[in-house]
Amino acid sequence: MPEKKVNKAVVCPMCGELSKAVVYTSVNATVDKEQRERVLDGGLFAWKCPSCGYSARLTYPILYNDMKNRFMIYLIPKIDRYQLCDKELEEKYSNLRNINKRVVADFNSFKEKIFIFESGLDDMAVELTKAVIGQTVSKKLDGAEVKNGYLSMYDRESNTMGFTYFTGEEMTPYVQTARLEIYGKSKEIVEQFAIKDKKLKGFIKIDGEWADNILYRYKRAKKIERLNKVKE
Ligand SMILES: [Zn+2]
Repeated sequence: MPEKKVNKAVVCPMCGELSKAVVYTSVNATVDKEQRERVLDGGLFAWKCPSCGYSARLTYPILYNDMKNRFMIYLIPKIDRYQLCDKELEEKYSNLRNINKRVVADFNSFKEKIFIFESGLDDMAVELTKAVIGQTVSKKLDGAEVKNGYLSMYDRESNTMGFTYFTGEEMTPYVQTARLEIYGKSKEIVEQFAIKDKKLKGFIKIDGEWADNILYRYKRAKKIERLNKVKE
C-alpha cells in the first residue's frame, strides 16, 4: 500500500488565483514515519498560495494506513454516514483480516483514532468511557454542556486515562482523568452490546453518538434484568 498523491486545483480564497497543490489521498505510516508526523502536526495539509502567500489548511479525503498496528482511518470531511463500504477498497484489501477500519468526519477525531490504535486500545470502549466520564464532568460543572471530548492521555503504569472536553458555550477545555477500571467495564459492555458492530464490513464511524446508543441499550437491558428479578 504505497502512498498516493494527486494534483489538485486550488482557488485561493484570498486573491482568487488558481494554482495547483499536491495532496496525499493515501498515507502509509508503517513505511513512512515522517509522513505520520506530518499528518499529526497538520503539515501534510498545509497550503500556501504561490501568488499572495495566503496559507490555509486543505481539507480533502485521506486514507491513513497503519498495518503494523492493524488499523485504517478514512478521514472524509463532514461525512455523516455510519458505514462506508467502498467496494473497490474492500476487494483491494480483502486478504487483510482483523483490521480496525474507521471513518471520521474531522481532523481532531482523525488524530484521536490514530492515538487510540497506536496505544493498543479498543476505540469502542474508549468512546463509552469518554461518554460516561463526560456525564461526570457535566455534573461537576452544574450541568454545563459537555461536548467534543478527546482522549488526550493514556498511562498504563499509573492506571489512568485522560480526556479533554470542551464545555459550555465558551467551549472551555476541561481535562478529566479516569481509572482504567472504567475502561475495563466499558470493554465488557462492548463485548456484550456491540458484537454486531465488531463484525461490520467496511469503514464504520465510532463516535459519541454511537456510544450514547450502546449505553442506552445497556441501561435498558439492566432495567429489564432488574424488573425480572422483582417478578421472581
Ligand atoms: Zn492568493
